[in-house]
Amino acid sequence: MASQARIRGNARAPRPAYRSACHRSLFEPEAARCDVCDARVDPEGGSRGYAVDGRGLLMWSRGDTTRWEEPFLCAACGAAIGLSALEVWRREDEDE
Ligand SMILES: [Zn+2]
Repeated sequence: MASQARIRGNARAPRPAYRSACHRSLFEPEAARCDVCDARVDPEGGSRGYAVDGRGLLMWSRGDTTRWEEPFLCAACGAAIGLSALEVWRREDEDE
């Protein structure tokens, strides 16, 4: 009995030796999710009133190579990032 109690106290759930996946998890596309908060996003830019889901644009260059990504953004994160960028640009304009 004492050994069983010790085993239970230190026991972890046994890990399966393999994982399985159904057809849906293997072949159907994942739902679009916001790159910031992981909320579900309508990839077609659907709206709920003034809240419009969409994509951001991230560009960077190194040497002669320019790359970009267009991550999904929910309406709240897109608005927050857009307003933050406008505020940064406004402050830069004031400094000049
Ligand atoms: Zn978001």
